[in-house]
Amino acid sequence: MDQTTATQASRPLPTVGARHIDPHAYPDGIAFLDGQYLPMSQAKVSVLDWGFLHSDATYDTVHVWNGRFFRLDLHLDRFFGGLEKLRMTIPFDRDGVAEILHNCVALSGHRAAYVEMLGTRGASPTFSRDPRQAINRFMAFAVPFGSVANAEQLQRGLRVAISDKVRIPPASVDPSIKNYHWLDLVRGLYDAYDRGAETALILDFNGNVAEGPGFNVFCVKDGKLSTPAIGVLPGITRRTVFDLCAEDGLVAAAADVSVAALKAADEVFITSTAGGIMPVTEIDGAAIADGKVGPVTGRLMVLYWQKHDDPAWSSQVSYP
Ligand code: PLP
Repeated sequence: MDQTTATQASRPLPTVGARHIDPHAYPDGIAFLDGQYLPMSQAKVSVLDWGFLHSDATYDTVHVWNGRFFRLDLHLDRFFGGLEKLRMTIPFDRDGVAEILHNCVALSGHRAAYVEMLGTRGASPTFSRDPRQAINRFMAFAVPFGSVANAEQLQRGLRVAISDKVRIPPASVDPSIKNYHWLDLVRGLYDAYDRGAETALILDFNGNVAEGPGFNVFCVKDGKLSTPAIGVLPGITRRTVFDLCAEDGLVAAAADVSVAALKAADEVFITSTAGGIMPVTEIDGAAIADGKVGPVTGRLMVLYWQKHDDPAWSSQVSYP
């Protein structure tokens, strides 16, 4: 079991800040900010925070399903790795962050939640341009679970367009630091909408497929899985697909995936904390294979959700 959250669960819950709580305010959730738990609608940051002004921030998103965190330890590893690479410090260690995330979920009451932890550079008290002078900030929140694909799209598969936008190269921004450098992804998304698709994939600096707005991509050809190796966030759901494949005797590799190879695949799916494993059945207006959700994708989707009750992969939230 995930020891971190197991120990947090036995402590009494803190109270939510005594401000006016509008139960209908959107989104319905609880945030942790400046040492206080607040209704989500009241969680606000300064416009002078460099997280906002310069995208100088890192974050991670973990989800809760049926009242259990899924792979929280991996998300904490990635978050603390990002903070270290960005030379940010926050006044909480791993256990402290796990406790705050647990409290946000428990106080929100959500049994299916999207839970985010963020570190920003913060702002300098003297308005200095030197990032070393800034006071770093930590915040977290729990809101209802959301998915890249809706119920209909999960059943029939997503319609995706490949944009010619190029993902910011790893030599510029290390993609292992989960970040908000999303202008390439957002512009790719508009390209996709213009072409009647539901979401986008964009390219790496060599013209191969990279990733999409909030997800990694896999293709299946002759029973073997591949996913782009470079210039992409090492997604926890992507890692989970590798783990499921290893348990299930499937071969999966991280390698270059050309646009042609993706379009000629037997099956394509995307992966994200926001939705898990989600089928793609159409790219640039053409069906992938027979245009139906394939057997490997379908099987991995089932295995993925089954793991959410497994104590080796998930940990219980203790609700009041
Ligand atoms: N790629 C990008 C750019 C993302 O922002 C995300 C998630 O937000 C992913 C991939 C998928 O990562 P994970 O599976 O850890 O949610």
